[in-house]
Amino acid sequence: MALQDLYREVILDHYKNPRNRGRLEKVDASAEGVNPMCGDEITIELTIEGDTVVDVAVDGHGCSISQSSASMMTDAIKGKTRAEIEEITSRFRAMMSLDEGAELELDPERPGAVLGDIEALQGVRQYPVRIKCASLGWTTLAEALKGGTDRTISV
Ligand code: ZN
Repeated sequence: MALQDLYREVILDHYKNPRNRGRLEKVDASAEGVNPMCGDEITIELTIEGDTVVDVAVDGHGCSISQSSASMMTDAIKGKTRAEIEEITSRFRAMMSLDEGAELELDPERPGAVLGDIEALQGVRQYPVRIKCASLGWTTLAEALKGGTDRTISV
């Protein structure tokens, strides 16, 4: 199977079977993010204990890239500390800003080094307009982590 096809399969799987979908009972922080150019909307709710995001839920609608990226993000950050989430987010952003054809440099000692399913999103780099779709969940997460439950952000 060609890499592009594998990436497409992973993205479609998260789109059709989104992880951590819905709402939480105990919401310590939340944010709503919109990408007006594509019509993507995402609401992220977090349950935080100490320094750890113990639960996360995503609601919203939009294109397959925005929704599958948010699903992958929830898988990657659930149960992680703020520092670990920052590391994973910076790995994601580094991956999305790589030059065409460049390889992701993996350092197994770093918590965000292995991005798993998220690596499927690097195919999106070929379509600059879709990078905002892929980044929406992550930007909304960062906004939620600032605290409070009435935050909104537009990308
Ligand atoms: Zn989109």
